[in-house]
Amino acid sequence: MSIFNFLFKKSNLECPRCLGKGFVDWDDIRRLNKQLKWVPAPCAYCNGSGKTTEEMLSKVPVDITYLTIDLPESEIEKIKNGDEETLEKGRQKELFLENLIKYAQDHYLNNNMDAETIADLYLRTENENALFSIERENLIQYIQEIIELKKSELN
Ligand SMILES: [Zn+2]
Repeated sequence: MSIFNFLFKKSNLECPRCLGKGFVDWDDIRRLNKQLKWVPAPCAYCNGSGKTTEEMLSKVPVDITYLTIDLPESEIEKIKNGDEETLEKGRQKELFLENLIKYAQDHYLNNNMDAETIADLYLRTENENALFSIERENLIQYIQEIIELKKSELN
């Protein structure tokens, strides 16, 4: 027994987000209920190593939506350090997505509208001061995914 064993154990915990693969795939996305919020990519929770530490586990929730590999490294560091402003930004972004998902689902289910029609309606009524916005083409594609997921749930 030496101190090195102890250190090794500490940083040798399997990452609970990617289950040690270093990569978040569709199975992980479904398991963590992040459909429409994440796409498969290297795991940001363990930075692709598949391993994590007790400190990380105690400080950062494994399913925090905002922590993804496409964020700048400085932003990832702020999340890991529990920076309130950064965490709030993450919450706002998730809320924005959830509202958009609900908006698209409602118009699809109640009015049987297609993705393009919903996108145009959304853009016409979008608040000028909205914190986030999506370009029309990307919005149509995203709404199409929302509809596809809803369809698969209904079947
Ligand atoms: Zn991981």
